[in-house]
Amino acid sequence: MLNFIFFIICLIIAGMGIALLLKMQRLKDLEKRTAGLNTSLEEMDEQAKLIIRTDIELNKTQEELDKKIAGLSTLQKLSREMSTTLEENQIFKKIGNEYLEDLGFEKSSAFLWNSLAREFHQYLNIGYSEGESLKIKNTVNSDKDYYLDLMRAGKTASSVFIPEGFLPKNNICRLFQVNEFIICPIIPQEGNQGFIFVGTQNIETRITEGEQEIITILANQISQALDNARLFEKTWRSQQELEIKVEERTRQLTEALDKVKIISKRKSDFISSVSHELRTPLTSIKGYAAILLAGKLGAVPDEIKERLAKINRHSDELVHMVNDLLDIARIESGKVNMNIEALELRPIAEKVGDMLSEQFKTKNITFSINIPADCKKIMADRGQIERVLINLLGNALKFTPEKGAISVKAACSNKIIQVDITDTGFGIPEEAQEKIFEEFYRVDNTINQEVKGTGLGLTLVKHIIEAHGGKIWVKSKIGEGSTFSFTLNCA
Ligand code: ADP
Repeated sequence: MLNFIFFIICLIIAGMGIALLLKMQRLKDLEKRTAGLNTSLEEMDEQAKLIIRTDIELNKTQEELDKKIAGLSTLQKLSREMSTTLEENQIFKKIGNEYLEDLGFEKSSAFLWNSLAREFHQYLNIGYSEGESLKIKNTVNSDKDYYLDLMRAGKTASSVFIPEGFLPKNNICRLFQVNEFIICPIIPQEGNQGFIFVGTQNIETRITEGEQEIITILANQISQALDNARLFEKTWRSQQELEIKVEERTRQLTEALDKVKIISKRKSDFISSVSHELRTPLTSIKGYAAILLAGKLGAVPDEIKERLAKINRHSDELVHMVNDLLDIARIESGKVNMNIEALELRPIAEKVGDMLSEQFKTKNITFSINIPADCKKIMADRGQIERVLINLLGNALKFTPEKGAISVKAACSNKIIQVDITDTGFGIPEEAQEKIFEEFYRVDNTINQEVKGTGLGLTLVKHIIEAHGGKIWVKSKIGEGSTFSFTLNCA
């Protein structure tokens, strides 16, 4: 029995021991789990902190970004404003308080270096009284070397970064009465350089990289606007100079033209009076030659008759020349009364053709007239137009070898008629084509040594055509022929 009780007790103790062991095992497991949970909790805590930090940074970046966007939009407006003016002074006036405030500053000043006066001139003054701005100007000028160095180096100074060798931050803050600031150089391609200062008294503001970028862009925009203004001024000045030159030249030309007109009138008057004076003795010479030739003063030997005939012929030529000269002078001085009327061109051309028909026949030259039947009438003085055709056809005859062809053609438009007189003659060298319309000009060639002439015919023709409001010109090729063309108004 005792043994049995002992056995039972041992069994109970063993059972309790096992139960204890099991509990301890469970406790250990629990401890392990708790440690694991602690680690996870710590990790979670770290992650939460990271998330909060990232969120704060993101917010900051967002804020910075918003500021930049707002700054850029202000700059865009400012740039538009500045581009509306081309005056140096006005450019700075466009930077108003409201724009400056939008950029986060309430004080600003801008200076340009005047190399002649060797000092900085102030162009912008926001947030300062007159006295304060004068003090700033004077101090900037007494410290000018620092600012000049900054401009030359093209560097930006700010309350968060002062380039080496520049004034200490405190000096700037004191002078401009600010806590935070940016000083940025203005460097146009040409002309005076300078700098812009912007600042704020707000102690909470810290100058950011973004703000520095914005003010650098603003300084670049000012430089660009200054360049545009200078370019405009340069162009405007050279245009003014050009206008003055043109005016001066025009005045000189008008004076020269007036002188030419006076000389030309004197020449016409001279030719006119000389021609007149020549006419009377010429008529006498011709008369006496004719009397002698007719034998009215006694028999004249054949030899002398021949000479007298020559005198007669040459006198005719001289009278012809004097008459041409007189006519040119008269037309030039406007003394000829043109009887302008509506005329058919064809009958005039036919009449002149008839007058010259004997000569065409002698030289075996084909003459043709080609004027459209529906051609309008011309507005012209009959006698003068006959003269033009006689001269041009006479020349064509003179300078066209035997068996050639001469034609008169007309092309009509609504208001103008063009007449072409074409021959298959010797032609006119290119360099002489302009000159043949000048007085006494004759082409220097062997043909002209044989063919007689005065060099006045075409001058007279040109004067007559121009007096009718028309034009005359020639197209010619050596060995192929010439075409003289002139225009007249239609009725
Ligand atoms: P002229 O006939 O009396 O010499 P013009 O003034 O009529 O004077 O002509 C000037 C010059 O132009 C002539 O000497 C001649 O050299 C040239 N010329 C004029 N018409 C013709 C033509 N149809 N063909 C070739 N040369 C011509």
